[in-house]
Amino acid sequence: MSAANCLFCRIIRREIPSEVVYENEKVLGFRDIRPQAPVHALFIPKKHVAGVREIDGQSAPEFGDLVLAANESASKLGVSGKGYRLVVNQGADGGQTVDHLHVHLLGGRPMAWPTG
Ligand code: 5GP
Ligand code: ZN
Repeated sequence: MSAANCLFCRIIRREIPSEVVYENEKVLGFRDIRPQAPVHALFIPKKHVAGVREIDGQSAPEFGDLVLAANESASKLGVSGKGYRLVVNQGADGGQTVDHLHVHLLGGRPMAWPTG
């Protein structure tokens, strides 16, 4: 998957609309189109990275940027106090459907493992 036709790269370029909840020079955060919880947002690097498996020693700080963005947004979206879930799916068995690294932020309801 090249950046040209990657769905999330197209969202970054505003070719596809999204409800943006966070943005800085490195990260975009936007609401998931099929929310699994009252608050469900995705945090993606503006630089195309296929998945968490591609993270190495050099790019690990970029993954940290996604977590910082998700934490800050959890506060802004009002779910920080009661808690929230950050999820990264990798590959087919991991449930990854979009091959552009993303961290899910889920909150606003209890999410007990494994049923939530
Ligand atoms: P994955 O299953 O790869 O971990 O998560 C991909 C997520 O992207 C899914 O939760 C799905 O609902 C979301 N998604 C897919 N297409 C779009 C879209 O066009 N816009 C937005 N905002 N989210 C999308
Ligand atoms: Zn991409």
